[in-house]
Amino acid sequence: MCTVLAVTASAQVTDDQELLYLLGSRASEIAMKDLPFDKDDPNILVMSSASYAIIDGHNTDRCIDGVADASGCTVGKGNLLLIHRSREKPLWFAFFSKNTKECVYLQVNNAVLGKSVDELNALADEEVFTKITKANIGADKLLSEPEAWDEKMKAGIFGGGAKPFNNEFTIMTIANIWAKGAPPELIRANQFHNHLCPGSASGFLFVKYIDNNLPLEKPSQRYQIIAIKPWCKDDIMQWILEATIGNKNYIAKDLTPEQMKQLPEDAKDVANVVIRWDSATGTGKGIVIAWDWDNACQMCGGVSKKDLTAFDTHRWWWMRLKMNQWMLDYTDSPETLIHTVKEFDVNSLAELNYLKSAGVNPLVELGVMPKSETTPTPAEKTPSIPGLGVIAAIAIAGALVYVVRRRKA
Ligand SMILES: [Zn+2]
Repeated sequence: MCTVLAVTASAQVTDDQELLYLLGSRASEIAMKDLPFDKDDPNILVMSSASYAIIDGHNTDRCIDGVADASGCTVGKGNLLLIHRSREKPLWFAFFSKNTKECVYLQVNNAVLGKSVDELNALADEEVFTKITKANIGADKLLSEPEAWDEKMKAGIFGGGAKPFNNEFTIMTIANIWAKGAPPELIRANQFHNHLCPGSASGFLFVKYIDNNLPLEKPSQRYQIIAIKPWCKDDIMQWILEATIGNKNYIAKDLTPEQMKQLPEDAKDVANVVIRWDSATGTGKGIVIAWDWDNACQMCGGVSKKDLTAFDTHRWWWMRLKMNQWMLDYTDSPETLIHTVKEFDVNSLAELNYLKSAGVNPLVELGVMPKSETTPTPAEKTPSIPGLGVIAAIAIAGALVYVVRRRKA
């Protein structure tokens, strides 16, 4: 009985794996006819959510081999990108031509995952994939004819998804920087972020700036980073610098609008406190660094910070696409857009841990901004539970009585 079960389970696993492989190769064969392209064409990029998408408990990694074998695009050649998406999102493949800027998108019909290989092979393409669409997504075309592309985005031509950073945005931003020859390190980190935007591009420039201004010099050194305030850059910096929240060398602290108003002019776009910590000496060297959004918008031209949140028009994606392409020209000169607000020394582990700890504003401690006396606390704004104040007062009174008694004793 056990043997029978084991054989059945093994056959099922093999069939599942074969089916996934065939999904990858089938998608590639359709795209090779539609785009069109021949195997091993270096001007073709494939993007996919394979390996991240989990369908009815099926891990989808094996699709990647099907795509690579059929199309000739591979991770090693840098033209097969695995785009990080949460596990419940669809399984899809997108094929992009650097020459024509055309893109073919295929989204897998989840129902095929339960089928046998023979059943899959008997299905028409339209039954295997719920969506097979093609569109030109070249940056020049989208920027010059934004209304037409905006309609297609709204229709979810490439699968749509949660606004604003849907599949269309992911595919068009990553394909265009790949076509422009962006550094592989930047593209890899943006696969984790799942799209490229001026915020994540700034993260790559921050890494380059840290390389130039606070490089690691010994094996005993590593970065301790406080993101203040956090934005898309922090996904990129964590990924590239191996400084992460989980490893406890990356902390994020946000600033309220009231706190933002108290920042001095040269720190109004403050971004990170970066400390080069040396575990051998128990000391560190730090810099507070800031971005320059005004300068970036002015130099890029035709965009403004307001566009960032103009989600009711095409401006939100238009400005991001335009700035993405423009910012790539500054990866070797990050000092154009980033500056150091303050340099400082950290003299002990206790000092380091204090700056990182909850409730401490490192910008106040480092003298970048004044200590706020007017920042409202949620308790002052909305005492949401009636009687909570009375309970708190009783508790505080009780604690005081206890302290007084202890002191007397
Ligand atoms: Zn972003």
